[in-house]
Parts: sequence; structure tokens; C-alpha cells
Amino acid sequence: MPELPEVETVRRGLEQKLNNFIIKKVEVCRDSTVAFPIKKEEFIKGLLNSLIYKWDRRGKYLIAQLKEVQNESAQFPLENFQNNGFLVVHLRMTGYFKFIENSSHPCKHTRIRFFDKNNNELRYIDVRSFGQMWWINKGLSINKIIKGLGSLGPEPFSKDFDANYLKKVISKRTKSIKAILLDQTIVAGIGNIYADESLYSAGISPFREARTIKKNELIKLKESIVTVLKKSIGSGGTTFSDFRDLEGENGNFGLQTNVYRRTGKECRKCGNLIERQKITGRSTHWCPKCQK
Ligand SMILES: [Zn+2]
Repeated sequence: MPELPEVETVRRGLEQKLNNFIIKKVEVCRDSTVAFPIKKEEFIKGLLNSLIYKWDRRGKYLIAQLKEVQNESAQFPLENFQNNGFLVVHLRMTGYFKFIENSSHPCKHTRIRFFDKNNNELRYIDVRSFGQMWWINKGLSINKIIKGLGSLGPEPFSKDFDANYLKKVISKRTKSIKAILLDQTIVAGIGNIYADESLYSAGISPFREARTIKKNELIKLKESIVTVLKKSIGSGGTTFSDFRDLEGENGNFGLQTNVYRRTGKECRKCGNLIERQKITGRSTHWCPKCQK
């Protein structure tokens, strides 16, 4: 599943590729991909003549700010165009975008197609079809309509996410620290890969009861999370999962993981073998010697 670094890689790709992309046609190939408005006709109509002005990311959500462009020859700055709400995307397990100059026949996993006046296409492909899109008209509350977005905890890179914050939210939690890191209401964007990698880097066992983790360990954990995520964003996300960037390429962070999917291999620090076990249904990889 794409996690924060992969979604951030997609965001940067979209921002680079879609220069002044004005949506002139929308084709919904699978109705269930449209989560809001309920009627897909409203989704399509709402997006027509929208300039995709800016891409943001919150947790694993991509959020496009839209501007309404009825008269393309208008010369005034883009900022002056009227807002036309937001296009929000969650890629879930296998969703990805492809930018296609001179549109071609879509593959069978194509879910939604956006075209500009020159027939350039932004295509959304999703093999397992768990991904969703919302068009949130101006005046409506994104956080109310998309519950998962409204309940997100702080971004790992924000100043709200520090050892004090962590100490406060986990002080009474008996859940494992691994489960805590996967909880999107506590911190946004971390999934299985980066939870395992961050805990290894901080020397903390994924099985530890969250409330037993000391302040100095939390300081280390926060630093590890930020370092691991930044490193992965820099290399375009991981090779694991079905993640693709806009060119259809995998990232290459997978080459550098220390524990994730290295079960039975030697720990890079101590030579002990990496182990794997499930925590709340998710495969967890760790070094029993380096992580206490
Ligand atoms: Zn080790």
C-alpha cells in the first residue's frame, strides 16, 4: 500500500506533469471509484472546466485545489480565478496515475479518465479498486465529508508531532507501539513498511506496550520516523507493493530497507537474523537483538 513517501512522490509528479491542466472531459469507467458526490454525473459536471491549480498531500490523501476557468483567453493571474472546490484522491492498495500525451486505449483496470482540450489524459488505474475520489464543492467541509481525513493525526514533519505529543497520546495505551504508529488518528501517513523501519532505526521492539516507552526513546523514535520518511521520499518511494509513479516506474527505496521483507537475513548492525511475526494482522519485521 502506498504510504506517505509514495503518495508524496505521486504529488510531486502530478505537480510537475500537470501544467495548467484544465479538465474538459471526464470519463468514469467504474462508478464505485467516485465516493462523492453520490451521483457520478454531479462529479463529472462539477469538475468540467476546472483548472488543477495546486496539489497538496495530507496523510495518504492527495488534494487538488481547483479553479473555475470558463474563459481560457482571460489574461489575469490564475489566483484570481474563482475556486471550484477540491478533487481528493486516496490510492488505497493499488491505485496510481498515469499521464498520457495523446490519449490511447485504456487498460481494463482504468477507473477514471480526465482529459484536457489537447486530448492529454490523466488516467487513474487501480487493479484492486479500493481507491476513491471525491469532488468537494466550495462551501462544503472536506473534513466532514471525508471522515478519514477529518480524523487524521499530525503530519510526521510538522512541529505538532514531537516526543511531548507522543508521550501525551500514548501514556495510557496498552497497545503495541507498532499498532500505535499504524493508527492514522495518532500520526498521519505511516504504514507497515515505515513503521517497521522506524522502530528498527530507533532500537525499539515493535511489541513494546506503548505506555512503557520512555521520553528519550520517543525523541529517538520521532527522529527515526522523519529520517526514514525523508530518505524514502528522496528516492521516490519503495519498490514493494504495486506502487507506481507517473512514469509507471517503481521507486528504489526497497533496496535500502533494514528489516522490512528481510526475514531470515542478517541484521545490518549485529548479524543476528531478522524475524517476522504478525501484530494486529500486519507482518512485522524486526531484529530481536537490536530492538528492545
Ligand atoms: Zn541487529
